[in-house]
Amino acid sequence: MNAVRDSDDQAPQPLHDEAWFAARASRGVQGLKAYDPGHDLVAFRRKFGEANLVELGSNENPYGPSPDARAAILDQLHALHRYPDPLGADLKRALATKHGVDTKQILLGNGSHELLMQLAQVFAGSGDDVVFSRYGFAVFALATQAAGANRVVVDALPHDHPHMPLGHDLDAIAAAITPATKLVYLANPNNPTGTWFGRDAFASFMAKVPAHVIVVMDEAYAEMADADADAATALALLASHANLLLTRTFSKAYGLAGLRVGYLIGAPGLVAVMERLRESFNVNGPALAACEAALGDEAHLHWSCERNTEQRTALAAALRARGLRVYPSQTNFVLVHFGARTAQIEADLTARGVVLRPMGGYGLPECLRVTVGNADENRRLLAALDAVLA
Ligand SMILES: *Cc1c(COP(=O)(O)O)cnc(C)c1O
Repeated sequence: MNAVRDSDDQAPQPLHDEAWFAARASRGVQGLKAYDPGHDLVAFRRKFGEANLVELGSNENPYGPSPDARAAILDQLHALHRYPDPLGADLKRALATKHGVDTKQILLGNGSHELLMQLAQVFAGSGDDVVFSRYGFAVFALATQAAGANRVVVDALPHDHPHMPLGHDLDAIAAAITPATKLVYLANPNNPTGTWFGRDAFASFMAKVPAHVIVVMDEAYAEMADADADAATALALLASHANLLLTRTFSKAYGLAGLRVGYLIGAPGLVAVMERLRESFNVNGPALAACEAALGDEAHLHWSCERNTEQRTALAAALRARGLRVYPSQTNFVLVHFGARTAQIEADLTARGVVLRPMGGYGLPECLRVTVGNADENRRLLAALDAVLA
């Protein structure tokens, strides 16, 4: 007879709205807007059916992971009741070997997004400056704001720059550093612009950065950059710059976005401080095993990256042939200028089951970001585009 039941004479509790709770949140979170993941793809899949949908909005890898990664996950199914290795030791060892660094220099994240957020949380707070480029990866602004620090947004290279329109202006970024600067975020190549900078430019940039400023180099697309494109990686400078670190991910070139694994490489001391805030089992068991297996299959990685380069070149040419401006890219997407009719074109494409990423949130409302699909997806995209532009 102890059952709890509704009683008529008890007025329902008024539910407080978002504004009420926001007023009680920390200062940084009060000014925060949640990450915009683009369209609701689950709803689209339900509406169109997966086979009729061309998903080119999230820079996913259409070729998927190495078969070894799938096999490694199946191999883990007997152990789902166990916690994963909190140290991720096997995966770290494989990464250390691959990159020629010590395992103490590696931190694993539930996606590199988690690491980028945690970096600001650990190294920046109220009154501190965090510097990054306009059109830099969206998470840089989110991380800074969430930490309650000041966003110092540096103008990108201009639209009419002869080599790297909208690219990071490394001189201007270096000039924006002050004694209040705690952190600098760079992405090379960058999302959503696709732009990149070279080794010499990066080395002279690092020579100008004071040693007290931590430089984060987000290298989510590093594996996809062509060898002859001269896209700098922070790897070569880690030994000479303790204030430099890089992040990478298994979400893009390795085709494992669904598993959520990224990693950071930096000084052992930096990793040790980051470890203080890491959730103990942040990377799950199947994911650890799959990523280790994926690292072992370099042939699949190279094959996948070669297909991407081939398709990116063809897609960019096909878009340019339609009179569209395509920005330079060393990634698995291209930023495309569609002009004043962008919103309508995007809506028309969506109605046909072709999903791209609108860029209004980045201050580029006349552009769409187009993930490079496989040959079939790109053909369907171009057919839909021809119908919409006609
Ligand atoms: C996709 C992407 C990431 C990676 O995110 P994960 O959380 O590892 O999936 C990080 N940085 C940039 C620039 C990206 O485009």
